[in-house]
Amino acid sequence: VSEPVSGPALTVEANRETCIGSGVCVYTAPATFGQDDDAKVVVLDPAGDLEDLIRAAADGCPTWSITIGGKAAESC
Ligand code: SF4
Repeated sequence: VSEPVSGPALTVEANRETCIGSGVCVYTAPATFGQDDDAKVVVLDPAGDLEDLIRAAADGCPTWSITIGGKAAESC
């Protein structure tokens, strides 16, 4: 049994003030993001998923509530 490999931890911040609880981030990177009883985002583990997935989660957030590496993700 091999250990899971993860890259260097990103700085992942989630803004619970602006989160609307859509769950996009949880769906995209379920080991990194979770939701509390109010459906607000919580960061479970900044290295929980592959970086691409974490960045995709940030990009997919409808309210730009996820910040990675100190730079807010742009949404299209
Ligand atoms: S995708 Fe954005 S708005 Fe939706 S739960 Fe995650 S942080 Fe909140």
